[in-house]
Amino acid sequence: MAERIALACEGLTKRFGGFKAVDNVSLTVREGTIHALIGPNGAGKTTCFNLLTKVLQPDAGRIAYFGRDVTRLQQEAVARLGMVRSFQISAVFLGLTALQNVRVALLQRTGLGPKFWRPARAMGHLDGEAARLLGEVGLEADAGTRAAQLPYGRKRALEIAMTLALDPRMLLLDEPMAGLGQEDVARITALIRRVSAHRTVLMVEHNLSVVSELCHTITVLARGSILAEGDYQRVSTDERVITAYMGV
Ligand code: ADP
Repeated sequence: MAERIALACEGLTKRFGGFKAVDNVSLTVREGTIHALIGPNGAGKTTCFNLLTKVLQPDAGRIAYFGRDVTRLQQEAVARLGMVRSFQISAVFLGLTALQNVRVALLQRTGLGPKFWRPARAMGHLDGEAARLLGEVGLEADAGTRAAQLPYGRKRALEIAMTLALDPRMLLLDEPMAGLGQEDVARITALIRRVSAHRTVLMVEHNLSVVSELCHTITVLARGSILAEGDYQRVSTDERVITAYMGV
């Protein structure tokens, strides 16, 4: 069976003034894989991720999602196609319970178009679906807990449940391990592996041991360009990557 490409970009370039933060980047994310974008500080990871997730518009280049040109589409439009960037903890309503937060996210699907709106049955199914999603991220026991009371790692899991509420075919995660302690890192790593079983994942991540454990393909950026690409073994032994990380 032919392997499908979930996300591809070609010649992606972004300038800030005269400075090229992302310079002619081309990469492909294969369907069903977990793909990481890594690189030293200032490499252009965030800018590249923001271009791919439609937060920024490129100065040059094209982006295709399952073969469809999405270069000029807005975030809502690509979300409608199933390409969803994760909610940030700042988007969680602290005064609402975990279940209520997921319900809010489920209701957002209605804003994504009629495809997601199932009128009469919708409200009745909402709590059941929210509970199912909390179960998927291991928060079933926290359904009635106010988000403000959840420890940080559980808030991160809630964030993922809220993202799953949008029914993504592709998940875009911005540093999912940032700020987490070791135990939570292990928990969220297992969670990402689980939710990626039927979904494609692209993530920016600093924690290289997580990347080595989780990711099938790794693209290493440095100074706005791709330095190396491949599995962890391949990129971690690449002399140019080692040099870039050592800041030489
Ligand atoms: P990384 O995420 O790999 O640390 P970034 O994409 O944040 O890298 O930044 C890449 C380069 O682009 C850096 O030199 C940064 O200072 C610059 N940069 C990022 N955003 C802006 C901006 N809005 N205006 C000007 N320069 C920026």
